[in-house]
Amino acid sequence: MAEKDIIDLRSDTVTLPTQEMMEAIKNAELGDDVLEEDPTVNRLENIAAKKMGKQAALLVTSGTQANLISLMANTNRGEQVILEAQSHIYWYEVGGISSIAGLFPKTVISRTGAPNPKDIQVAITPKDIHFPKPSLICLENTHNRHGGTVISPRQILAISKIAKTNKLKLYMDGARIFNASIALNVDVKKLAKHVDNLMFCLSKGLSCPVGSVIVGSIEFITKARKLRKVLGGGMRQAGIIAAPGIVALEKMIKRLKEDHENAAHLAKELSKIKGVTIDLNRVQTNIVNFEISNLGISDKKFIKKLKEKNILALTLDNNKVRMVTHRGIKKENIDKTINIIGNISN
Ligand SMILES: *Cc1c(COP(=O)(O)O)cnc(C)c1O
Repeated sequence: MAEKDIIDLRSDTVTLPTQEMMEAIKNAELGDDVLEEDPTVNRLENIAAKKMGKQAALLVTSGTQANLISLMANTNRGEQVILEAQSHIYWYEVGGISSIAGLFPKTVISRTGAPNPKDIQVAITPKDIHFPKPSLICLENTHNRHGGTVISPRQILAISKIAKTNKLKLYMDGARIFNASIALNVDVKKLAKHVDNLMFCLSKGLSCPVGSVIVGSIEFITKARKLRKVLGGGMRQAGIIAAPGIVALEKMIKRLKEDHENAAHLAKELSKIKGVTIDLNRVQTNIVNFEISNLGISDKKFIKKLKEKNILALTLDNNKVRMVTHRGIKKENIDKTINIIGNISN
């Protein structure tokens, strides 16, 4: 992005703020947000809460901080949290769920990121002197490691019923919830409706430079605000972060469709390359995971060869490669990428 001829497919986090965002930053009305006096932050939080159909919202520094704060605000130390085995919280957040929140993670394996309600029911340990007390279920929508797969309102509802029956809270890591909303063609409120609280990232496909937002009840957000402070996330004139966030929520959501179309195009063309294995059913949003075991080249070498051609991608494990589409990627970039991968295989 910064360098024009680089095709950066590593993540949608590489998106740079739009001109309109830069203007909004420059013109933002500011105050001290620890004192809840930054009018731009307050406006963003109001817009976010309304958009999700929840009572309140809180701007935080990152998705990782949003998840950590939410874990802590939904539980007490020593309790059990049920989450999908490939979830971001479990894999990519430095184990903060245990080292900072003091929680015991219990994983549930799923095929595409949406846990089967029955498996969740089984994972909930009964009341017993030996077991940690289960208190929270976490969902991830879209699901990052599963390749940007979506969880539908119907699936969320089924899990929420189990949460209610067992008196557990239900939280959603919705880092890319707007991608899910666009892909499913449902209002994001419907995805938020049956969870107690959730977070989403401004800094990914929505193109903001910084920030994530937690949404939930007033009581939950009040707790979250205090936790944000103890974790060092209390910011002062945070309006400079909130201002592009407002632009994101008002103007950047609909265009995610373009990213999904580019991802679908990339996936379809990849599926025609001999040696590439890809499950097209799993390419539902802006993430494309594929396997290159039969290409006769290691994943590290594959990435290196792409890099020589100014194309950046990431490896997962087991010869898996990940490519993510975003505002900085146009259809012609996809075509060029396909061309180059086609030649690597030869
Ligand atoms: C990116 C991501 C996060 C963490 O966000 P950061 O801002 O990078 O800390 C959390 N959950 C999911 C599903 C993500 O994709």
